Amino acid sequence: MQKSTSAVVRYRYNMASFSVEERKRPGPDRRSIEVSKVSREALEPVIFQEYFPRSAIDIFVEVLQADAGTRTAGINAASIALADAGIPMKSLVSACAVGKVDDTLVLDLNKDEDNYGQADMPVAMTPDGKITLLQMDGHLTRDEFKEGLEMAKSGCLAISEMQKAALLEKYSGQIGGDAIE
Ligand code: UDP
Repeated sequence: MQKSTSAVVRYRYNMASFSVEERKRPGPDRRSIEVSKVSREALEPVIFQEYFPRSAIDIFVEVLQADAGTRTAGINAASIALADAGIPMKSLVSACAVGKVDDTLVLDLNKDEDNYGQADMPVAMTPDGKITLLQMDGHLTRDEFKEGLEMAKSGCLAISEMQKAALLEKYSGQIGGDAIE
């Protein structure tokens, strides 16, 4: 597949068969196809795809240990991997999930909270608050949704700082020592 005016972005999310307690059958399944699609759509808006007509940008996410939050972790890692690969981007994308456990909203669910909680809402956004992924499993009231989205925003902002720090740490040494502003 190719486009004559822009690059095609391909995103493959894969969970290794040993990444979960109950061995997962290798290969794509409905869930990994869905996660791949929404993760690609979470990143596409920030990539200058028009700079690379008739090309493909391949993103491979291999989950070696799945303790929940793998789609959000994948998007966070893929975002800095794209920047690291020199792909021109409008901004980074950061992601985290908010959920409800025992009637309490929680940020960045762990595995039990994800699997047995009342709601799970992964969110991805740019640092200026443009949402590029929003999914929800379970139930939240309108007020919980609003509060949860604010919590997810603060989580994404914190992650965005870590992503920038990781890139700066890698490249500041290589261009003369001082951190880049
Ligand atoms: N999970 C599993 N087997 C599967 C799919 C998921 O054990 O076939 C577990 C895994 O730990 C995963 C968690 O359930 O991280 C939550 O899955 P979900 O679909 O909510 O995606 P994620 O939170 O990882 O993005």
